[in-house]
Amino acid sequence: MSSCRLCNSSFIQSWTAQDAKSGETLSMALCGGCGLVQQAVLPTDEALKIYYSHNYREDYKSTHQPKAKYVYRAGQSARDRLAFIERAGINPQDKRLLDIGAGGGEFCYMAGKAGFGAAGIEPHVGYSDYARQQYDVAVRTCGIEELGHSEVDVVTMFHVFEHLAHPTDAVKKIWSVLSEQGNLVIEVPNIHQSDASPHNIYFKAHLFYYSRFSLMAAVSQYFELVALEDNNNLFMAFRKRAQPLQSMVLPSAAQIMQTQIRLNQKGWTEYLVEGGGWKKVFLRAAKTVGESRLGKLPARGILDKVWEKRQKQKQPSWLWLSTGGGLIVAMELCLNLF
Ligand SMILES: [Zn+2]
Repeated sequence: MSSCRLCNSSFIQSWTAQDAKSGETLSMALCGGCGLVQQAVLPTDEALKIYYSHNYREDYKSTHQPKAKYVYRAGQSARDRLAFIERAGINPQDKRLLDIGAGGGEFCYMAGKAGFGAAGIEPHVGYSDYARQQYDVAVRTCGIEELGHSEVDVVTMFHVFEHLAHPTDAVKKIWSVLSEQGNLVIEVPNIHQSDASPHNIYFKAHLFYYSRFSLMAAVSQYFELVALEDNNNLFMAFRKRAQPLQSMVLPSAAQIMQTQIRLNQKGWTEYLVEGGGWKKVFLRAAKTVGESRLGKLPARGILDKVWEKRQKQKQPSWLWLSTGGGLIVAMELCLNLF
């Protein structure tokens, strides 16, 4: 690798890591210009296109279409993502939303319930087909490069951006399809996070490993920051710039140094102690019990359940209402008795 895919700097530091799935050796690089961690050798565009349209989901989930437990997890993620969008001040009213990398369509379906006019694109043939059949959502089978010019108000990309081989081209394309003041919402794994197991950091399919600084740099020419949360994964919401800047805004040397320090700190001690990895064994067991109760519910029924629960949790006066309701029932009983 001679230069960075994002900023073209040739100030590169290299090392090798193991793919979390296959154990195969990956050549990694940290760019001294923008602080982006990346795979030094990227697959060709053609190879990536074939992989994402047919093999990716099979490799990661061993399935051609999502199983019930994945639908349930996707529903919970969709609920959390909609909550972030709400906290970022993005109101669904009369907004057209495009979910890039829509998977099985769970987020599109839930975003529709939240009030967005939601559609999506997904390169995987089986998953996009599933989205249309199960939820009746408008998910087109295609990649970002085939995206047309129909205008939308919000673009979302959840765990997609780290897979894109040409991040700046993608950002430019999104800028061109967004309406004035339109929003871009991105969620990616955070290379600075401490709660990822050392065996679970590098994946062959993840071409880039963003921090808040390098993600900010990647979109900076076309977008400005609106909201950021990085408890474990990185959530960032941006607003479209009226005019693109001449060039991207690079992180400071101190910010790039932070990434370097974080990479050096990663290991089992950090994961188990600071990252709370020991708790995950218990959480995983509880999750399996919860998921085993899904039974034979259809996909739409599973998402409807997650949605109902979200709506109940959103009602702050629920306790008061139920107590009040109980009192009314008691009063009626008394009136009937006398
Ligand atoms: Zn760079």
